[in-house]
This record gives sequence, C-alpha cells and structure tokens, in this order.
Amino acid sequence: GELPDRDRVRGFVDDAHARFAGVDDGFVADYIPALAAADRHLFGLSMVAADGVSHDVGDAHHPFSIQSISKAFVYALVCQELGHEAVLDRIGVDGTGLPFDSVMALELNAGATMNPMVNAGALATTSLLPGATSVDKWEVLVSGLSAFAGRRLVVDEEVYASEAATNQRNQAIARLLQSYGTIYADPTETTDIYTRQCSLLVTAHDLAVMAATLADGGVNPVTRERVVDAAVCRAVLAALATSGLYEQSGRWLATIGLPGKSGVSGGIITVAPGKGGLATFSPPLDAAGNSVRGRLATRYLSQALGLNIFASA
Ligand code: GLU
Repeated sequence: GELPDRDRVRGFVDDAHARFAGVDDGFVADYIPALAAADRHLFGLSMVAADGVSHDVGDAHHPFSIQSISKAFVYALVCQELGHEAVLDRIGVDGTGLPFDSVMALELNAGATMNPMVNAGALATTSLLPGATSVDKWEVLVSGLSAFAGRRLVVDEEVYASEAATNQRNQAIARLLQSYGTIYADPTETTDIYTRQCSLLVTAHDLAVMAATLADGGVNPVTRERVVDAAVCRAVLAALATSGLYEQSGRWLATIGLPGKSGVSGGIITVAPGKGGLATFSPPLDAAGNSVRGRLATRYLSQALGLNIFASA
C-alpha cells in the first residue's frame, strides 16, 4: 500500500500539529547542560512520503542535536559494512527493560550488549565503523548520515562540548565493555565519536527524509541515492521495534504499531515501511524520555493514515 493522497496527508499533518500544540506536559532534558536551554514551546512535524513528497508544519526547520536517533543510522551503516548477521551476533537485538544508560544491563549479561539502541550497544556499534583512524571513522559516519538526510550535516559544537564534559557515565560504559571484550575499537576514541554523532544538527524535516529512506528500502526518496540495502533497512526497523522508544518500546508498538526511535533532545522518527517517514520535534519529555507531543502526534497520524503494520485491513 501507499500513503493516502497528498492533500489528505497534508490535512492530517496540519491537524496533528493544531491538536497537540497546546499540550504542555513533560520536562526538557537537562542532564546534558546545553540541552536544558531548549525552548519547550518548539513543535515541528514533517512527513516525507516514499515518493519524496514532503509536508512540514510548525518548527520543522528548527535545528537541534540528533542525540539517540543517530543510533538507528549508525547501526544501518555498520550493518551495511559488515552484514546484518555478523552485527546481530555481536550487538544483540533484544530489549534490556532498563534505562538507556544502564550499567546493570551489562552486568546482568556478562558484558554482552543487548541491542544497538541503548548506550552500551550503541557504543559497541560505533566502535565497528570501518576506518583505520578515528578521523576516517568519523568521515564514514558523517557522510553516511548526510546521505540519509540528503544534505551535509554538521556538529553543534556547543552541545558536543557540553556532553563531552559531562559524559563520564558513557566513558565508564565504554571501559566496562572493554573489560569484557565487547567493544571493538579504542573506548576513549569510540566514546568521542559517539558523543559527536549525538551532537549532529538536524531538523524534523531532515529526520523525516532519513526515516523515509529507511521506508524506501534504503534509497533516499528526495536525492534518489541508494544509501543502504533493503535488507539493512529491515534489520534496522526490527531493532527499532524492539528497543527504539526506551522502556516504552512495547507500549509504543502496541499503541502506534510502527518502528520508531526517540532521542533526549525531543525528536522522534517513525517509519511506515514502503510508505514514508514521519519526524516530530518537541523538547518536553515524559518519564521514559520520549517527547510528549511527539508521541501524541505520531499516534494520531498512525491512526488517521492507517499506518499500523499489524493491521490486517
Ligand atoms: N547523547 C545522549 C547520551 O548518550 C543520547 C541519549 C539519548 O538521546 O537517549 O546520553
């Protein structure tokens, strides 16, 4: 199937924005000092269909740091390079049931990472990027994510510096992985690349193009460039389904019925396979770390546009 026709999509996207713009619940993340400055009123939605047609509303062109949403795309690049099965064996793809920055999740599993969407597995995934030096690895990462977005992405140096100065917990996770032999490059360099990847600036529109590339079997529907293989997209979407929305991944799947990935800066991407990508941006988060308005708008649009992948009719 396809999305409904473009006028209906535009109508529902506009309607989702109008419906939830007044919701004022949740708290802006402040454990990374630079994120605490975000305006809680920002609210943008962008939908990009698998044919490249896009609908943007509200603050869809406001830049913010991608944070954990980067994990989906770095995982895609690593699967493309090494093959999905090899990455699956190393990183895992099951939910931890624990917070994204959990150390206990590692201790409970003898140092094995559980999935690429929480910090331990994401650090291990970043460590698998090809390249002889960290400069080479970074270029693979930034050019790959830029191909997903269809434009050259750059780091927010203020967010990067702020997180680099306060990311002792991620440094500790990387060291713990090293002690178990479950990180595949230097832990200090890997944590630095991971912190930079989280600081890449995107807009909701960029994220919707990136999500639409996953929906379109790995071809960016705007630039028409093939970024990854269709098999890689299936692997990424499965990982998002198990663990893309922190500890609410099961609830998200049960109520929205689509693979998604959220991040602490307030973005969420959602992929309707074969149909298109949706991105929402609104900084206030719920207790699990997911954007409040983003979840409401995504649930509304999944229902209105008939996108639930478990629906038989
Ligand atoms: N850079 C953040 C961290 O590692 C990303 C967290 C997130 O978006 O979930 O703490």
